Amino acid sequence: MLRLQGIAVSPGVTIGEALVLDSEGFRIPRRFVARSAVDTELERLANAIEETARDIQRNRDAVKGELGDQYAAIFDAHIAMLRDDRLIGELNSAVRDRNWWPEYAVSRTLRRYAKVFQNLDNHISQRAHDIYDIEKSLLRNLLGHRRETLAEISQPVVVLAHNLTPSETANLDRRFVQGFATELGGPGSHTAIVAEGFGIPAVVGVGPFLADVSGGEPVILDGHQGVVILQPDEETIARYKLEVEAAETVAASLGRLRDLPAETTDGARVSIMGNIEFPSEVVACQQQGCDGIGLYRTEFLYLTSRHEPTEEDHFNAYREVVESMEGKPVVIRTLDLGADKMLTETTPEEERNPCLGLRSIRLSLRQLPMFRTQLRAILRASVLGDVRVMFPLISTIVELRQARMVLADVMEDLAEHDIAFNRDLPVGMMVETPAAAVMLDTFIREVDFVSIGTNDLIQYTLAADRGNKEVADLYSACDPAVLRLLQQSLNVAAAAGVPANVCGQMSGSVMFTPLLLGLGLRNLSVPASAIPEVKQLCRSVSAVECRGVAQRALEMDSAREVKAFLRDQLRRVLAQTIG
Ligand code: PEP
Ligand code: MG
Repeated sequence: MLRLQGIAVSPGVTIGEALVLDSEGFRIPRRFVARSAVDTELERLANAIEETARDIQRNRDAVKGELGDQYAAIFDAHIAMLRDDRLIGELNSAVRDRNWWPEYAVSRTLRRYAKVFQNLDNHISQRAHDIYDIEKSLLRNLLGHRRETLAEISQPVVVLAHNLTPSETANLDRRFVQGFATELGGPGSHTAIVAEGFGIPAVVGVGPFLADVSGGEPVILDGHQGVVILQPDEETIARYKLEVEAAETVAASLGRLRDLPAETTDGARVSIMGNIEFPSEVVACQQQGCDGIGLYRTEFLYLTSRHEPTEEDHFNAYREVVESMEGKPVVIRTLDLGADKMLTETTPEEERNPCLGLRSIRLSLRQLPMFRTQLRAILRASVLGDVRVMFPLISTIVELRQARMVLADVMEDLAEHDIAFNRDLPVGMMVETPAAAVMLDTFIREVDFVSIGTNDLIQYTLAADRGNKEVADLYSACDPAVLRLLQQSLNVAAAAGVPANVCGQMSGSVMFTPLLLGLGLRNLSVPASAIPEVKQLCRSVSAVECRGVAQRALEMDSAREVKAFLRDQLRRVLAQTIG
């Protein structure tokens, strides 16, 4: 049994069969060979070894021609490893004596070899990469056209990967993927956000561990604690099974809150809206009794499509959401592409700092035809319900004005063609850069509502990449600088009488609910899976005590102190609720 600690990004616990994806998306299930087929499989293995040797030889010759003998020697070393008697003996024995599928034998054996190198604490450890290369070539030759990839999963699995991009995550088949864990990734990445939207447990930033798995073996994913357990023993499996059952009981009891208002014990009414990435998520939001959609991340329409979405694609998606919400508000955020949400085909030249580069509203204002297409679709959908539009990553008033001008221009266009739309469509902006928070008193005059995007606000305030596990400690919603910007923004909005919402992941974590209510927030937008718990917490506290919590937290000078304090408060509230 191997227990690995990562970063918890999407709650829940799951127990399932590991499916390992390397960078090429290979899927190597633990499969066995029938005794009668052993000879054929051994032959297939031998052929793959020969084919791989020929591939390496070809690369060797090409490199030798270009760079000379010295570089070609790297490939000689690969061939020597591949033809090593001991390795071949082990592979053959795995197939012949243990009846392992050759692919599984290759993956298991070479990963074990690579691990030995990896554990050496010197430059030789780099040789592990050579072994992975050999493994990949062998698998490529063994699997040939039978290569199975993520798209072809047909049974429940727990995906273990080096990294998953937001678009790869968005394309996971939700019917079969029970959860995932990745070696890379940070707490605020969109990969994590999609997992939460799907309601599946996820752990990121585990560090190197794929060398220890080849797929097919049991794995436990604990999305509460950020723990991955490989090859768990019986006792651990039994304990986690109990936990899964207990969670189901709690979920069923929280379901009873569906039609009750999110109201504090002293009568302050809170609106809890849902965050979605796909129209299909609306059902879950409705089931949990949401008050509307507070954040629709429309860029996922691009990330899951092979072609640039047309106006009709946009419109159909918006119509589905708006109609399903039956008159409740739907905040459609315009495209927030860029940074980690990249389109592979249309990515401009590589940017050195994509998070600080041409992303989000900046990209939309640069690619006006794309932006106008989206705005036309939003405006057309605006007559179908309570639609609101919101611009992401605003950092200057000029950007806000430009975006509004494009919107006004598109409105004129529609009017000219007698296409119906709501001329009074509420227009809002996200507050997710320190610049927007600091200047909010001026911006607020030109918007109908604001929504605070703490995921980016934390990243930009603390200069800590939300998707980088190395700075995950710095990236904290508890940081006093973040709390002050939140307090300041909420005060400015309240003084101007402009509705404010918090739609970053922070608002979906009950640890922050008393703090946010205490700062005067009355509108939260959270992933569907978080709605019941957040609602229950709102119903368990008074607005007066929350003010006290916020005041105390604002006096503290470190994220660590704030976190310990908020955890304590949460424990106290939960103890009272249960007791
Ligand atoms: C945010 O930044 O908090 C936010 C809600 O937007 P996203 O997570 O999509 O960047
Ligand atoms: Mg954001």
